[in-house]
Amino acid sequence: MISPTSCPVNRTSVQWSAVCGRYLVAQGSTTARSTLIEEQPFAIGPKCNGPVVCLGCCRPTTDVEELCGQCGWPLCQECAESEANPHVQLECREFQKSRARFYNLPSGSSFCPQLDCVLPLRVLLAKEANPKRWENEVAPMEHHESERRHNEDVWHADLVNIAQYLRGPCKLASRFSEELIMQVVGVLEVNAMEARTARGYPLRCLYPYTGILAHSCVPNTARSIYPSEGFKIRLRAMVDLDDGQPLHHSYTYTLDGTAQRQTHLREGKFFTCNCERCLDPTELQTHFSSLKCGECVEGFQVPKQPTELSTSWNCCGCGASTSYEDVQAIIQSVQSEVNAVQALEMGPHRLEEGERLLRKYKSLLHPLHFIATTLRQLLIEMYGRVQTYEMVQLTDDMLERKAELCRQVLSVLNKFEPGLSRSRAMNLYELHVPLVLLAKSGFIASKLNGGELRARLVDAIDLLKECVEILQYEDKCSQEGVLCEVAQQALRQLTLSVEGLGSELD
Ligand SMILES: [Zn+2]
Ligand SMILES: [Zn+2]
Ligand SMILES: [Zn+2]
Ligand SMILES: [Zn+2]
Repeated sequence: MISPTSCPVNRTSVQWSAVCGRYLVAQGSTTARSTLIEEQPFAIGPKCNGPVVCLGCCRPTTDVEELCGQCGWPLCQECAESEANPHVQLECREFQKSRARFYNLPSGSSFCPQLDCVLPLRVLLAKEANPKRWENEVAPMEHHESERRHNEDVWHADLVNIAQYLRGPCKLASRFSEELIMQVVGVLEVNAMEARTARGYPLRCLYPYTGILAHSCVPNTARSIYPSEGFKIRLRAMVDLDDGQPLHHSYTYTLDGTAQRQTHLREGKFFTCNCERCLDPTELQTHFSSLKCGECVEGFQVPKQPTELSTSWNCCGCGASTSYEDVQAIIQSVQSEVNAVQALEMGPHRLEEGERLLRKYKSLLHPLHFIATTLRQLLIEMYGRVQTYEMVQLTDDMLERKAELCRQVLSVLNKFEPGLSRSRAMNLYELHVPLVLLAKSGFIASKLNGGELRARLVDAIDLLKECVEILQYEDKCSQEGVLCEVAQQALRQLTLSVEGLGSELD
């Protein structure tokens, strides 16, 4: 058993339970926004099943000339000219010594299994360089060996592509046992987090403390990764926390329905979630997975045992029952239509198709259903940005529409990601734009007087303030950091114009 130990900051401690294994709790009462953990990754590297990428900066590369001059593995020109990249510092020497050759992909194939060994190798090299940190922090991490062995194809592929490859062609058999390598592969599969480089390329990072955070479909912590600080991670409280309260993060997409989240967690993380949201057939009264009942007017069909894969569904109004298979068939067919719209090229047609689908399935899905929510997010992004629906072209009705879509998505996010959620911040920003434009056009058309105009603008200012409050901690070069800057500018301008109004009206 592991005794409570202190984490990289003092607002968190590690606990152990037979059910959850190691988990983290808040130490002392903690206010929203407080930093709970701050740590450097144990290792970073390319994603599994990815394309050929530069081993320095993770930029995808198909150029057969972009190879490391020392070992012949993929490395872009820019990274080749600098020593400050993980490839040169870590595996390059091993590849040189063993003369393990990189085989570029035949044209047409997009996945490069040969690169799957890079991050495990970096973890192993970090273990050798820092045996104490390995022993205390990484070795105790969950790796679900027996569950992974069940999935024979994946287990076998990892064994051949990673363990046997490192021990054979890379000549590392005397340093790393097959068992150890497979443990590392499992630790990464279960605990590694996806991040993006400053230029937006995906990669995986292993954080020993943040990685053992327990999961909940209503998380109470938010993590930010800072590419500009060596991919340091900071975990913050999203809401106020009590002393001893377990810390949770969501390992799955919070805006998926319960059945979809459960499947993802079972297949990818090897557990069944029993959080409050998962156990509640209405998903905290949002009816996020509920279907309209075909038998009565007012009722909604909800799963009888939401965490069970093949549960039957019942109407909470009239009690009518629907089989799991029937519900699955409905969801799959609606989902495939939504996927087809998502795949369309950004433009007016995609927007109109999104609106058409929302109307089409109004009589089938609960208004806040996750599929409707997906469509709303797609529409929010397009109103004001695509041809013929650019911001200046939107009529008041369309502006109202965009605002309504934002409010609906926010009403769901307020339940599933309360507090300092990045998704909430994005939607607050999106909502402020139509509100400002509507206020101005209402004033010009004399539908609003000066006082009303000012009140509406102050509402928009409040949205922007909250947006900035959430995003201010993000890395300046990340997408969210950039949005924060934009929101701050909008906030300054809007505040100035309200002050100007003040003197005119007084
Ligand atoms: Zn590079
Ligand atoms: Zn090299
Ligand atoms: Zn859950
Ligand atoms: Zn009914």
